[in-house]
Amino acid sequence: MVLVFAETWKGQFKKSTFEAVRYGASCAQMAGSHCTALVMGACDNPSELATHGAENIIHVSDAGSFEPHAFAGTMADIAQKDGAKALVIAGTSNGKALAGILAIKANAAAISQVIALPESMSPLTVERSAFSSKGLEICASKAAQTVLTLIPNAIGMTEVSPGAGNLQSAGMSGTALAVPGEQTVASGSIPLPEAERVVSAGRGLKAAENWGMVEALATVLGATTACSKPVSDIGWRPHSEHVGQTGIQINPQLYIAIGISGAIQHLAGVSGSKVIVAINIDPEAPFFKAADYGVVGDAFEVVPKLTEALKKHFA
Ligand SMILES: Cc1cc2nc3c(=O)[nH]c(=O)nc-3n(C[C@H](O)[C@H](O)[C@H](O)COP(=O)(O)OP(=O)(O)OC[C@H]3O[C@@H](n4cnc5c(N)ncnc54)[C@H](O)[C@@H]3O)c2cc1C
Repeated sequence: MVLVFAETWKGQFKKSTFEAVRYGASCAQMAGSHCTALVMGACDNPSELATHGAENIIHVSDAGSFEPHAFAGTMADIAQKDGAKALVIAGTSNGKALAGILAIKANAAAISQVIALPESMSPLTVERSAFSSKGLEICASKAAQTVLTLIPNAIGMTEVSPGAGNLQSAGMSGTALAVPGEQTVASGSIPLPEAERVVSAGRGLKAAENWGMVEALATVLGATTACSKPVSDIGWRPHSEHVGQTGIQINPQLYIAIGISGAIQHLAGVSGSKVIVAINIDPEAPFFKAADYGVVGDAFEVVPKLTEALKKHFA
């Protein structure tokens, strides 16, 4: 059996949750078993996971807010009871916190940064991203249970048949070691780790007041905005937009980098993007080596023209 942690936010599933459940259903199909989704805390419609391949859905409605020790203890107990071999988690910030503790509690192998369906389910063998996305590794589990943490957006929505979605209830068995506080969310459209399109800008934009053209381009594309580290360090943009090795790691379909040099620490967080477009005044900017498309030019001329052209295209 494959057990998937079905993360929610304010009672709703995240896109990365659907990706994880579909991944779990595909693994279960490979293993000739079934996929069970575990929902902890408030959830408006747990049965929604059936369309993503969940055969069983266990809802622990009294779980409260996310606390990794309590959630990991409960998930480890359910995995043990139901004989789960693979424990699948989306690599969100909560997912990453859960995965390590869960692996310890379940005495399971932990394979993080997974980017593909398993090559084999016995032994569980899967490809993962390594060296800050600069390399790949094929990792084989030697343990009876394996925790897999998926990079959000890296695998996408695998094709699955709907599951039966048998709904069951369970109680919390894990113990919390911390008290979750009130959470405040950065404003903005789609959170960066889940965004399909990202428009990002760097120090080449020269001042905070020049971000209007970045936002205008993002609006036309339905994209989320991001920035390089120095930009958030200076305070031109909030830290929640900082992408890279020390910031958020993203895997959108489209990443547009405006006035960003393409330092290795920046690329470490964005090189999983499917299509990269770099706009830079310097033809020697390192970003052009990592980009699929490059525009050598002054961002202050190129970006407004690009926005106007896209507006006409989408009109
Ligand atoms: C341990 C460590 C961790 C780090 N982690 C991160 C991280 O997570 N994320 C990150 O981003 N950085 C990180 N950095 C910093 C990184 O090394 C770079 O310094 C940083 O990415 C550079 O940001 P930038 O490209 O915005 O600025 P710059 O390096 O100053 O580049 C600005 C670019 O804008 C171009 N430009 C200038 N004017 C224009 C114009 N008018 N039109 C178009 N282009 C123009 C320039 O040609 C240049 O390429 C880290 C560094 C260290 C040491």
